[in-house]
Amino acid sequence: MQCTITSASIPGADVLTRKPGLAKVARLFPPELVRSLVRLRRDLHRHPELSFQEHRTAARLERALAAVRPASLERVAGTGLVARIRGRSHSVPAVAIRGDIDALPIQEQTGLPFSSRIPGVMHACGHDVHATWAVGAAALLSARPPAGDVVVLLQPAEETGKGAQAMIEAGVLDGVAAIFGGHVDRRFAVGQVVAQPGSLAAASDTFEIEIAGAGAHGARPHEGKDPIVAAAALIAALQTIVSRRLHPATPAVVTVGSVHAGSAPNVIPDSARLSGTLRALEGETREKLHHALRQIAGDIARAYGVEAKVAIELGPPPLINHETAVHWARQAVEEILGKSALVPLGSPNLAGEDFAWYLERIPGCFLRIGAREEGTEPIPAHSPQFYAAEEAIWVGAAVLAQAARVASASLAARGGGPEADPEQRQARRRRQK
Ligand SMILES: [Zn+2]
Ligand SMILES: [Zn+2]
Repeated sequence: MQCTITSASIPGADVLTRKPGLAKVARLFPPELVRSLVRLRRDLHRHPELSFQEHRTAARLERALAAVRPASLERVAGTGLVARIRGRSHSVPAVAIRGDIDALPIQEQTGLPFSSRIPGVMHACGHDVHATWAVGAAALLSARPPAGDVVVLLQPAEETGKGAQAMIEAGVLDGVAAIFGGHVDRRFAVGQVVAQPGSLAAASDTFEIEIAGAGAHGARPHEGKDPIVAAAALIAALQTIVSRRLHPATPAVVTVGSVHAGSAPNVIPDSARLSGTLRALEGETREKLHHALRQIAGDIARAYGVEAKVAIELGPPPLINHETAVHWARQAVEEILGKSALVPLGSPNLAGEDFAWYLERIPGCFLRIGAREEGTEPIPAHSPQFYAAEEAIWVGAAVLAQAARVASASLAARGGGPEADPEQRQARRRRQK
């Protein structure tokens, strides 16, 4: 893999204007803002911190947000931040932009000149860029205020699926009518954006199965109840949930990710423990996975004369983009990058994303934002080689700021929140014609 960011020097605004299609984006950012955002991103990347431990990160982001002179700036949920950018009118409901800020327990192998200085921790999911583009969006909105207020949320602990809930419990969505966020994605080139209605990320639940048998001498299996043989049968049977119980066109995953049992080659242990993850794009499929997992575990256990205790911990729900908010986001992308920038997601994404918690509460749109430079490879997120192209900062900041602007103007024009029902929107369009 060839890493294209080889220079440690901070590029000027000219890096943007050289890229075809990004000229309009480049014009939005004064040279000093370009340099300060690149410096911020590289500093965050060099000093990654794990979920809910983002103390240095939060302090650094607090300083960066203070520099754009928000109306208010608060710490929430421990290492989270909320900055309020004042709009032109107090009567328009606020719109939110969210960037996540945490890193992963991975040893970086990118070769970037600003690689992680923290052993075993790296920004392998691009949240260094998400935090930076949120600050960039705050700067753009502060320089040219939108119709109503915009709250910029910097959220900790996305990777553990717990940060969004902590932010919501702190009240960050109070008075907010719509929310926008995005994720860098190296399957797409810089300048390409996915903004589409429906499922964009999967429900992501964790399960644990404790199999209780009876220990015995390895040479006298008839005197015990072997939990290892039962576990092996169970692991194989769990593979039939997706392959035999769901419609072949329904995206879902059952992965057993850990198996623990036994301590010696000639001893049958008392118990075995499995854990894994369940992914589904729809609530109904998610329930089918839960039901089948419990049923198969119970029945296999009975067949092998052992007991199985199943625990399912609910993670984020499926991420479902709201149609009206998608319409606003697409308009923003067209205005900033042109119509050809909008691309379809292609095959469904079964990763989890805790932005889904916000969308359970209020309308919004989550975008995939292209982060691959020309001539380089896709590189999946959570890989030790993953990094996002620097140019994704400007695209993310400009598109999210513009989406907030479009949403805010639309809310101001209609004097309220977005319609939940797309038919209402169509009826409104008919009335307008
Ligand atoms: Zn991630
Ligand atoms: Zn991520």
